[in-house]
Amino acid sequence: MDEQKINHYREVLLEQLRQHTELARENQADALEMAINDDGVKDVADMSLLDHNQEIEYRLSERESQMVADIDQALLRIDEGSYGVCARCGKGIPERRLDALPTARYDAECQSLIEAGTGEDEHATL
Ligand SMILES: [Zn+2]
Repeated sequence: MDEQKINHYREVLLEQLRQHTELARENQADALEMAINDDGVKDVADMSLLDHNQEIEYRLSERESQMVADIDQALLRIDEGSYGVCARCGKGIPERRLDALPTARYDAECQSLIEAGTGEDEHATL
């Protein structure tokens, strides 16, 4: 992959990182605010609704955190010069796939093998 394309994907990833970091922070702030306001709750219906909301916030920020970790790893691969190369078979990941999923570590073939449980263990590629 040439330098110009690498720079393009780096910018895409940095922009995504910025967005997801903000989202994660907002979600955490909301969850915290809900926990702080937790003292005025009287009946069980209110209580369960509140718990439910906190659960949703928590899951959302957990997913955001995972996204941020994926983006971080992709940026690391750019620095290492291994970005855009399938971590399992070593073939180039098609740009069409990287455009759709800039954090992709595998080409579509290996991804489906891994998801089917017949590919290499996730930890073996770290
Ligand atoms: Zn592959």
